[in-house]
Amino acid sequence: MCICLNCKYINVCKHYNFVEKNHNELNITKTPAFFPYYSITTINFFNEPKELEIEWDVVECLSFKEKPGNWVFFSFK
Ligand code: SF4
Repeated sequence: MCICLNCKYINVCKHYNFVEKNHNELNITKTPAFFPYYSITTINFFNEPKELEIEWDVVECLSFKEKPGNWVFFSFK
């Protein structure tokens, strides 16, 4: 699971914005201004019967600041 979902900076972070784009999701913000330090992203490939699914997850980040469930606030705007 992507740790960004529980991060205080999810709505301003450039790296999370990049992850959203690779998931073909709408961006929480169009103009993120925050550069995180040393975020590490894993990319998993799932060879499903009809298509190749790609999952992007931030797994480590020195800028991570815990704010449980923060993504929920922005996903229902
Ligand atoms: S964990 Fe890091 S990459 Fe993810 S939203 Fe927070 S600061 Fe950005």
